[in-house]
Amino acid sequence: MAIPKKTPTLLDISTEDYCKVLKENKKLKLIKNVLETSLNHKTHGKMFSIVTSTWNPISGCLYDCRYCWAKNLALTKLKTAKRYANGFKPSLNTSEFRVRFGKGDLVFVADMGDMFAPFIQDKWIKQVLDHIRQFPEADFLFMTKNPKRYLELLPFIPQNTILGTTIETDIDSIITQDKVSIAPPPSERAEAMKKLEWDRKMVSIEPILQFDLNTLVLWLTDIDPFIVYVGYDNYCNQLREPSMQQTLQLMQQLSETALVIKKTIRPARFEDSK
Ligand code: SF4
Repeated sequence: MAIPKKTPTLLDISTEDYCKVLKENKKLKLIKNVLETSLNHKTHGKMFSIVTSTWNPISGCLYDCRYCWAKNLALTKLKTAKRYANGFKPSLNTSEFRVRFGKGDLVFVADMGDMFAPFIQDKWIKQVLDHIRQFPEADFLFMTKNPKRYLELLPFIPQNTILGTTIETDIDSIITQDKVSIAPPPSERAEAMKKLEWDRKMVSIEPILQFDLNTLVLWLTDIDPFIVYVGYDNYCNQLREPSMQQTLQLMQQLSETALVIKKTIRPARFEDSK
């Protein structure tokens, strides 16, 4: 088969079209492989490669994840910004509602916070959703560690959105024992994502923590995301990491049903020090 001269990107084929056709035609394996290659090629370690820009009408978060780069940024380099005057407490940034979006944009909304967390007011979220609704030609990515809020707000969520969550592991006790985060445990996030009926779902397994392969693959199969990002911690947070071989095995198994895109893939810290 001839190799296409220009590798298509996800922006050449809309994620919505891709998901619809994928459900109808399993022969799309070829397109999936091309997209996977293209998106993996675009990966720059820290940002999701499908994203073209970020937009923060809501910022701040109280989940206190140990590995939170956003909080760290807000309390250091961005500490003089008005929206971080109260540290990383949630705020509605009204000046952001002047921003316009267009065709080809895939905007990561509130990457400096968690806008579906319980401590964010409904009316703030609805204001963001109303703004997004004005730009049907653009696509928007949400990520939260509280996806059950997607279920509550589903009637208000515009179609041009990708609904995502982070699942670092299937082992809740690692999160609690190691004080990784006070967000809802991964099992609760997985349950909500399984219930969520939405064409474009995304899961980020980042920073990846030790996991049980069969359980995590089963969770992801049930959630049925069209895209999964996998990556190790980018900083030195001393997290309980799986071996690189286990991670590669996970990626290979998930790749049977989803686009699997790598972020930072490296040996676990304990392997490095051997
Ligand atoms: S949920 Fe996200 S924004 Fe909130 S503390 Fe954790 S990593 Fe930071």
